[in-house]
Formats: sequence, C-alpha cells, structure tokens
Amino acid sequence: MQYKIALAGNPNTGKTTLFNALTGSNQFVGNWPGVTVEKKEGTLIGHPDILIQDLPGIYSLSPYTLEEVVSRTYLVKERPDAILNIVDGTNLERNLYLTTQLMELGIPVIMAVNMLDVTRKNGDIIHTDILSSAMGCPVLEISARTGEGLKELVETAAKTAKHQTLSEPRHTFSGPVEHALAHIEEATQGLLPEHQTRWYVIKLFERDSNVQDSLKLSPGLLDHINSNIEAVENELDDDAESIITNERYQFVSQLISKCAVKKNRHQLTTSDKIDRIVTNRFLALPIFAVIMFLVYYVSVTTIGTDATDWVNDTLFGEIIVPGAGELMDSWGVADWLKGLVVDGIISGVGAVLGFVPQMVVLFIFLAFLEACGYMARIAFILDRAFRKFGLSGKSFIPMLIGSGCGVPGIMASRTIENQPDRRMTIMTTTFIPCSAKMPIIALIAGAYFHGEWWVAPSAYFVGIGAIIVSGIILKKTKMFAGDPAPFIMELPAYHMPTIGNIARSVWERSSSFIKKAGTVILLSTILVWFLSSFGYGDEGFGMVEDLNDSVLSAIGQKIAWIFAPLGWGDWKAAVAAFTGLIAKENLVGTFGILYGLAEASEEGEEFWGTFAQDFSVTSAYSFLVFNLLCAPCVAAMGAIRREMNSTKWWLGAIGYQCGFAYCIALCFYQFSEFISNGVFGVGTAAACVVTALILYLLFRPAPHNDTAVVELNPSPSK
Ligand code: GDP
Ligand code: MG
Repeated sequence: MQYKIALAGNPNTGKTTLFNALTGSNQFVGNWPGVTVEKKEGTLIGHPDILIQDLPGIYSLSPYTLEEVVSRTYLVKERPDAILNIVDGTNLERNLYLTTQLMELGIPVIMAVNMLDVTRKNGDIIHTDILSSAMGCPVLEISARTGEGLKELVETAAKTAKHQTLSEPRHTFSGPVEHALAHIEEATQGLLPEHQTRWYVIKLFERDSNVQDSLKLSPGLLDHINSNIEAVENELDDDAESIITNERYQFVSQLISKCAVKKNRHQLTTSDKIDRIVTNRFLALPIFAVIMFLVYYVSVTTIGTDATDWVNDTLFGEIIVPGAGELMDSWGVADWLKGLVVDGIISGVGAVLGFVPQMVVLFIFLAFLEACGYMARIAFILDRAFRKFGLSGKSFIPMLIGSGCGVPGIMASRTIENQPDRRMTIMTTTFIPCSAKMPIIALIAGAYFHGEWWVAPSAYFVGIGAIIVSGIILKKTKMFAGDPAPFIMELPAYHMPTIGNIARSVWERSSSFIKKAGTVILLSTILVWFLSSFGYGDEGFGMVEDLNDSVLSAIGQKIAWIFAPLGWGDWKAAVAAFTGLIAKENLVGTFGILYGLAEASEEGEEFWGTFAQDFSVTSAYSFLVFNLLCAPCVAAMGAIRREMNSTKWWLGAIGYQCGFAYCIALCFYQFSEFISNGVFGVGTAAACVVTALILYLLFRPAPHNDTAVVELNPSPSK
C-alpha cells in the first residue's frame, strides 16, 4: 500500500530544503516565492512505500493565488494520508495562521518547526509541548539545513500516515461563530464529505463561492445558511470572512505569547541591522545598482573575460581548430567535410562554449545572492519603487528568475493573481538579459568597446529601463488598467548559503547551457554552415568560395534593409539576429562561422578583430539593444504562448517586443549618429517621430477606466 504525505507551509520556510533532505532528490533551492510552482514528488528515505508531495508555498487556504488553489485542491480532493506542516521557527505568527486551517481538513497533521539552528543561536525558546497540546498535533523541532531532528520527524511522519492517528483541532472560534457553525453543520448533515465537515462548514460560513458551487446546495438551504451568517455579522459588526481571519490571528497571537520566548525581543538581530541599510528608503536602490553592476562587471569584464579569451583564442584558436584541421588532413577527408567540422561546427559551437567561463562566474554570483536572502530583498525594494510606475514587486520576481533563463521566469508569473498584471509581466520579463544573452553582450563589449567596464552592466539597465517604460505605457492602455496586485512577502533572515546549494544551482544552469550548445546550437550551426558554404557561383549551384555568393547571403540581403535604419544593414548581422530566435547563443555561433573564428585564429588574429570591421561603435550598440529587447528564443516564446493561453495575446506580446526593440535601437542609433556627425536625414526624422510618440504614451494622463478594477483580494478589516 502506498501512503502519501503532503509537505505544506509558507514560502521560504525551508520546504525545498526539507524535501531534499527527506527524499534525497535533487532540486533547485531558491529564496523567493514562485520557484516552487510545480508539484514535486519523492519517496521518504527508508520508507519506499511513503510518497512525499511538495506543495507550493502558501500563506492560507483561501483561493486567491494560483498556489493556494493548487495546494487547497490537492489537500481537499486528493486527501493525502498526512500533512507535514513546516513552520519557520523564527516567524511563528504568520506561519501558525496556515496551521489553524490545515488542522480543520480532517487529515492527520505533523508540525515541523524549522530553523532550530537559528532560533537556538538567537536564544529563543519554543515550548513544543504547549504548541502541541494547543494545536492538537505532534510538534517537532528540526533544522532542515543541518539535518537535526530529521530522523525523529521521519519516524513520526511515517507512523502518523500509516496509522492515521487523526489530530484533533483544539482551536475554536468565538461563541456566536461556533453557534452559527453548529447550525450550518446541522442543516447540511449528510451533504458534506465525511471527515471534512468542519472545513466545509467554516468555508460555507465564509461564503466561499468555490465550496458553495462544488457542493451544489439548494437555493433554499443557501438562504437558510445565509441567515445564520448574517446574524453573526450583525452581532459582531464585521463580514464573515474577516471575522474568521481575525479570530484566527487572535488565537495565534495568544498561543505565541504562551509557547514562544524570544530572548532578544527588543534587540535587533544582525539580519535586521543589515536590512536597516540595505532596504533603507534612500540607499536601497543605489546599493542594488552597485551590486548588480559589480556582478556583471566582475563576471563579464574582469575574471570572466580572461577565461573566455583564453578559451576562444588559445584553447580553440591555437589548439582545437588547428589540431582538428591537421587530424582531418591526415585522415584525408573530403574538403567539404573538413569545412563542415572545422569552419562550421567547431567555429560555431566553439564560439558559444567560449563563454562558459563567464557564465559560470555570473551564475555563482546570482546563486549566492539568491541563497543568502538578498534577492528576496530586491523584490521588496523594487516593489516600493515599482509601485510608483503602477507595477508591483510581484512582477519583479519573474524578472529576477528571468536573469537566469526566460522560460522559468515567464512561468513564475503564475504567482500574480491579477490577470492584466500577469500578462504585462509575461510580456516584459524577457527584457532582462538572460544568461544566453550574455555571450552577445560579452562579444559586443569585447569587440567594440575593448571590454570597457560599463558595457555589460549597461545591458542590464537597458533591460530594466525597457520594463519601466513598457510598464508605464502599457498600464495606461485599456487592456492593462487597474491597480497593481498586492504584494505580501516574508523576508527570510540573511544566512550564509551552503556551498552545496550554490554548486547545485550553478551546475543546473550551466549544464543546461552546455546541453543546448550540443543540441539546438549544433544543429543550427550545421544549417548555417551549409547555407553559407553553398550557393550559385560561377559554375552553378555548389560550394562557393565567396561568402557573398552563398544562399545565406541571398536570404540575408533580402531582409537586411529592414535593419539598415538601425545602423546594421549588413546581411550577416541580419542573419545572426534571425538565428538568435532559435537560441540567443546562436547569434554568436553564427558570427563565429560568418566571420571565421577558425580563420581568424589561423592568421593569428583575434576573433574580435575580424568581427570589429563590419560595425561602427554606435551600430554595434544598436545591434546589442535590438537583440536584448526583441522576441526571445523559441523556447521562451513557447512559454509565453503557454502562459498567455491565447494566440492573440501571444502574437501581441511578440509583436510588442520586436516593435519596441526596433524603436529603441532606431532612436539610439539615429540620435548618436546625429550628435557625432550632425547629419539630419530621413532616419533621424523617423527617430524624432518615434521619440515623440513614446513620450506622449509615457506622459499622457491615464484614461479613466472604472470597469477594470476588480478587487481580487479583499483585505481583512482590522
Ligand atoms: P522554501 O521556499 O520553503 O522551499 O524554502 P527553501 O528550502 O528554499 O529555503 C529557504 C532558505 O532557508 C534557503 O536559503 C535555505 O538554505 C534556508 N534554510 C532552510 N532550512 C533551514 C534551516 O533549518 N536553518 C537555516 N539556517 N536555514 C535554512
Ligand atoms: Mg522551495
């Protein structure tokens, strides 16, 4: 017989860490809500017959966010054999609110109070016996991080699930509420699922429409229930849902005063002290800017560049490319095959792999910022800033994740319950440079700006700027009007991340990058090589000496005019931008083939040098801007399609991204040309018109819209 234990708790309580420790499976450990959107399963160590189900992190069982709906549906409909409720020992108040709800489901609950290592260090004491008898379930203290107490937890959980030792909810509501609940229970006798009557009765009292619908109660019965609810509402002068919420909080805070003793109640912890500076009203944004700047500066410009130069120029340039060439010659393979392998595959894939060292350094920094707790602060800091632009900090979480890869970033938008906000977030998330765009940034920075310090960080800020501008413009259209979603988030205490967590996260990200180089990019480089090596030459169709006779050039020349106003009407750039839609790293791979990474190294030149001839500094930056902001790769476009769940919105999003990228690159190029050369042409005039339009859209008053504001999350009146 297979038993099921569901792991439930607030975000950031150590659920993922505990899940890994209990199942031994590998998972990504992040630090903000939104990562664990999907359900994950694993078997309990030492108990192959017990399945553990990781539920999304939630604050309550009200169906307001997607996570809450997922968790609640699972708990109510699938009915696991036990619930393992993980609770953050440093933050009992918020956590126990959920516990009071879980206790009502009629499923055995085991409470694990996590972060024992931290509470002990702070000198806090939690009386688990009092907690246990007040709640009516076993309570154990653990540290998911150090593994302390886990053995006992495993045994208790296994025993509870197998013997179905039902926990007895001890918490009751005030007299009038319990009176009404008893009436509702009586009126619905035989109509509610067995063992879950208390939960259903409370939900009926809260007038939860999902529950009302699912029970299909007769209108007469609903009326009768409603009269009971109204009586209480009149007596207590509040609406039913708020009454329940408030009474839960009262219960929890009274319980905490009995069972938890905080040693340094009035003393600031180190974490609080750091937060005083880092989330300070005036310093927060400058500090964030400096940190992101340093991260990009170090990984792309200093350490990263040296390593990448070595890989590109020495490893590939001096060792692999000549070596492969000689080897092929000694085998006497056909010229075209040698060309395919050396000029096609090695040049293309090699140009992409060359950026792995830079990427690894960047991933180490990002994983550290994530795991130590700073990323959660960034979302909080930016929430405050973003509200000024009518966006919410919740939109920023997908963007933070999107700095690794746009696909999970887009998927993390599910944490946003408000539809317009969600759509807008999906549309703008990929403006943040993902790791696959790093090689493009590094290439442009290296070839045109001699690796100058500001280029790589500037790309990041172009992305943020694009999001802010788009946010303001889109919010003023009818489709996106409405208040930004409320943003609630627990800030976990800062902590030193474990090396294991960082290594796992870096490995996960870089291995998927390398894997992509071996599959999608390999195939595209082969295709690009064929298209660039064959064409109509003097003797009809066949291999051509001159790149300009190739099929690729013919295609490129057909589309290159589109990009001429942006300063890079050369067909090679147009083709590269196009192959970037398959995977952004491709763009560099394509340049590797078209500008001959192999030849460059044979002639002892640097790859950067041959490439630098075709662009001016301004057109290179315009090329960078366009490729940073235009439609993402096919994988991310697929994610947009899935999350939008509408072809119309999907096309709209892609169209908006490409159009926006084009406009910004156009304005940048035309104005910088005008400033440096003083020539005013058709392009400059077009840029003026576009700028005027953008400024108008930015500063026009928000159109009055009184239909779009739907209150999704009525906050309890206090
Ligand atoms: P989730 O959001 O609930 O899945 O939480 P995670 O498992 O991602 O943990 C959030 C953070 O808390 C991570 O940085 C963990 O390393 C850290 N953490 C988890 N459990 C413990 C613990 O017992 N002690 C300490 N000090 N940190 C922990
Ligand atoms: Mg998690």
